[in-house]
Order: sequence, then C-alpha cells, then structure tokens
Amino acid sequence: MKLLLHTCCAPCSVYCIDSLRKEKIEPTVYWFNPNIHPYMEYKARRDCLEKYTKSIEVEAIFEENYGLRDFCKNVVEDLESRCKNYCYKVRLEQTAKYAKENGYTHFSTTLLVSPYQNHKALIEVGKEMAKKYEIEFLYRDFRVGFKVGQAKARELGLYIQKYCGCIFSEESRYLNLNLAKPELPEGFKFLPVKNSINIKKERDNKEKYLDLLLEADPNKEIVNKYLLDGELFALTYQDEPVCVAVIIMVDNDTVELKNIVTKEEYRGKGYAKKMIKYLIDNYKTKYKKMIVGTTENNIPFYVKQGFDKYEKTIKNFFVDNYNEEIWDGDLHCTDIIYYSRNLKK
Ligand code: SF4
Repeated sequence: MKLLLHTCCAPCSVYCIDSLRKEKIEPTVYWFNPNIHPYMEYKARRDCLEKYTKSIEVEAIFEENYGLRDFCKNVVEDLESRCKNYCYKVRLEQTAKYAKENGYTHFSTTLLVSPYQNHKALIEVGKEMAKKYEIEFLYRDFRVGFKVGQAKARELGLYIQKYCGCIFSEESRYLNLNLAKPELPEGFKFLPVKNSINIKKERDNKEKYLDLLLEADPNKEIVNKYLLDGELFALTYQDEPVCVAVIIMVDNDTVELKNIVTKEEYRGKGYAKKMIKYLIDNYKTKYKKMIVGTTENNIPFYVKQGFDKYEKTIKNFFVDNYNEEIWDGDLHCTDIIYYSRNLKK
C-alpha cells in the first residue's frame, strides 16, 4: 500500500502515524489546508508539522495555499454547512487528486482522529473522492486514539491550536457559539491517559545504566566513581529508560551535572532538556548553583538551558584522564570547559 495521508496539523497526526506504523503502513504526510486563519496561525501549524515529520522521519509534502479569499467566498452563503460542503471536500479532493496523479494506491486524512469533526461526513466525502479519482480511501476510526495522541503531542511540546481552523471556528471557540460536542465510536469511552514520560531518582541498581552512561563518558573507572557518590535520575518513555543523568555534590552551595545521556534513537526529541529542567527544579531548593563540564561542541546546548556563566577550563583534561582519544563529531576533545547556572534565578 502506498498511502497519502492528508494532515491537518502535527498533534492530530501523532496517533494516526503511530497507529499506521503499528500496522506497518508508512504514510506520506500531505499538508493542504487552505482553511486556517489568520496567516500566522496557518504558519505555526504548518511549521510545527514540518519539524515534527522531520523528527520522526516520515516523508512530508507541503502544498502551500493559504487560500483565505477562496475559502470565504465559498462558505459565506451557507456557513452552517461549510465543513461538509466545502472544507472537507476541497481538502480531500486535492489529496485524492494528488495521490492518483503521483502513484499512491490509497489516501486518508488525520481529520478522522478528531471527535469534534463530523466523522460521518468525512467518510462520505472520502468515498465520494475515492470514486471520482478511482483510488482507495483508507478509513480508520482514529478517534479511539485522540486523547493518547494529544497527550503525546503535549509531552513533545508540539504547537496545539485552540480552534479548528477557519475564522468562523475561531469566533465560535471564543464566543461559545454552537460548540460541537465530541462524538465517539459507539460504546467507546476515553480512559484516563497516564503520563508516558516519567523521571525518578534511582537508588538501587545504578549499574544497569552503566552502558548508556559510557556512551557520554567512556572512562569506566571515572563513571563508576561518580556513580557511587552521585545521584542518578532516569527518564522513561512508556516505561523504557531513554535518558539518564548523574549529579554529584561539590560543596554546600553547588552541585555538578556529571553525565547526561539519551539513547541514540531518542536523541533530538527534547528528553535531555526535560531532564535538565527536572534536575534544576529538584536541586534549586537546597543549592545555589549547578555546574557542568563539557566539550566545546556542547556549549551552545548548555547555554540554552541557562548554564550561561563561564567558570573555568581544565586544559588537556581528556588527554590526561582517558586512555583513548575522545572525539565529539569532528572535534578532537582535549580541554573540558565548565559553565554554571544560577539555580536561584
Ligand atoms: S470549522 Fe474546521 S472543518 Fe469546519 S470549515 Fe472551519 S476549518 Fe473547516
């Protein structure tokens, strides 16, 4: 199956893509939404989707069309029926057409995830476009995963909109006019969604994280020493440990972040940032300062997390303390550079 998935925004795409991938269907995301107003809202949703699709390595096509004038002209005579009569049609028609012309076998839409959309009308329009363009409409009742997807989107820090899209839905949202009630599949109830990301201090079995810690600091002797004296924190995603950090006490006012590492496949998704934020909140009541020793390449990352005060450089630290050469990408590491963050700010 070659699936073109019309995508209205990043948060709605989360559950749809995850569940399709579970079925071993790899969708191509298709952005075509000439119904989102005003322009900066359109851009915020579009840019967030671009960033998200890159982070999860899904192919994405962006059909740029703000379309304000056409949209208004086409819906103004019958605002009550605008979703079914125009907005679903124009988006699914373009998706079906593009899919047919570009060798896809199926098309679908993330609009099917929202219990606030007219689900029946979406199916009807999907089938109508499938017939017109002689291509399969892949139907899934994604609504069962709406809450799970939204919770994950929040955890990932995705931009979450406050209204459906058009200026009329924005008016309804803020003036409480004709707000749609959620519609769920028959007999289905949302269960409370438990947090998929948790961080806790590990008192026992710290050694089980040794291999991961060695990815950031390959000297086993040094790691074992600070592991013994230090406090280890593990961040789990859906019960799998994905990021760990070790903190040691330097003096009555200062703690040091000795090691922080994220599993390779989870890097670039903000887990280390979440961990640092947690550590800061955890230590700020008792300590004034957190320091971190790092290589040159990582300074911008730590400065962004508030470690903005340069403390000191220990020349040839990596040469003197490690048997092997230490490389960080293309950088041959020799010196360790310390920065600090004021925990009271
Ligand atoms: S409410 Fe949403 S689906 Fe309906 S016309 Fe506006 S943007 Fe489109």
